[in-house]
Amino acid sequence: MELPFLDEEIVALKEKGRYRFLRRLSTPQDARITIEGKEVLNFSSNNYLGLANHPEVVAALADYAGRYGVGSGASRLISGHMDVHAELEEAMARFKGSEGCLTFSAGYMANLGILSTLGSPDTTIFSDEWNHASIVDGCRLSRARVEVYRHTDVTHLEDLLRASSSRRKIVVTDGVFSMDGDIAPLPDLVTVKDRYGAILVVDDAHAVGVLPPRGRGSADHFGLSGRVEILMGTFSKALGTYGAYLCSTRRMVEYFINKCRPFIFNTGLPPAIAGATLASLGILTREPGRLKALWENGRLFRNEMEARGREAGSDTAIVPILVGTDGDTMAVSRALFDRGVFVHGIRPPTVPEGTGRLRLTLMATHTAEMVRTAAARIDEALRERGIGTNGAIAEKR
Ligand SMILES: *Cc1c(COP(=O)(O)O)cnc(C)c1O
Repeated sequence: MELPFLDEEIVALKEKGRYRFLRRLSTPQDARITIEGKEVLNFSSNNYLGLANHPEVVAALADYAGRYGVGSGASRLISGHMDVHAELEEAMARFKGSEGCLTFSAGYMANLGILSTLGSPDTTIFSDEWNHASIVDGCRLSRARVEVYRHTDVTHLEDLLRASSSRRKIVVTDGVFSMDGDIAPLPDLVTVKDRYGAILVVDDAHAVGVLPPRGRGSADHFGLSGRVEILMGTFSKALGTYGAYLCSTRRMVEYFINKCRPFIFNTGLPPAIAGATLASLGILTREPGRLKALWENGRLFRNEMEARGREAGSDTAIVPILVGTDGDTMAVSRALFDRGVFVHGIRPPTVPEGTGRLRLTLMATHTAEMVRTAAARIDEALRERGIGTNGAIAEKR
């Protein structure tokens, strides 16, 4: 059968510079990787603490696979709830300082589940405009009314809350924003959501293992544990494995077990992955030096960029470097790759129009030399393309 829309839309994407394709990695997700057959420094990984290929985590995976097999074989409510799931949920609840925890097979699923379970047609979800795509899709699936507030603008959020007559109100935000690396204004969000009786949901995918002092997420960072109704996060980023969790009260967990379709109708997390995650959680807790090294690398990178007259936004492990047009963004990323530094370019619709950027991520396993090299190469590549400091597009000769 002829399906001309496939060709038409793909050609259109290529013409717009929005075509996406996969790159092949032949090594673990480390500070140095081989990608498309070329060895490069990796500045585009969420393996912030080097746990994805840590020997102890790899050994735990093999050990738990030996004890429980690879797959869990059923949804958790049928027969797929094993000892290791319960152990991981207990460990996560302790780690996050919450009563209860429920795991999901991915962060994407968790956000679909949280928002569709709490949302309903008589609910309004207030969502930061830069929230992760899985939150946007969770809002859609919930059939709730959705009000998008300007990025981190708590005054705007409060205006929307005040004007709302919905019986149930949910405020949802990334703890650390995935494209810009900035931290949500949690103290103000907590004050405002309390004032209007709203449920606060925080997605800490990029906060756990990253934010000081303990890597336990944004609420812990601000000393607000216990003040946020739903703490969600993933195992797939700093913890280096796969899957996700929701931490909340025991009552909330019980409610989700009974009501959350992406939990009920989905096979449980593979037990080997759950066991590996227990191991990474142990390393994160007993080796605070990893988080410190990640933070040091962030400081070093920002200093190196500032020394070259360039602003490197954000205080976290995600550092956006503004480029501008889609064409320039991809060209700079390509030039860096050719020089042995892998930094992914991010274009619309993932980020707003005209704000194409390099999205650099640091790892605890980068050496200082690697970080210095990245800053120097990035500055060179931007200058060659006529892109001045402050991300402004300098006049091209
Ligand atoms: C990565 C990410 C997710 C999705 O998590 P997966 O486990 O990869 O499905 C959700 N929210 C945020 C903010 C993320 O960065």
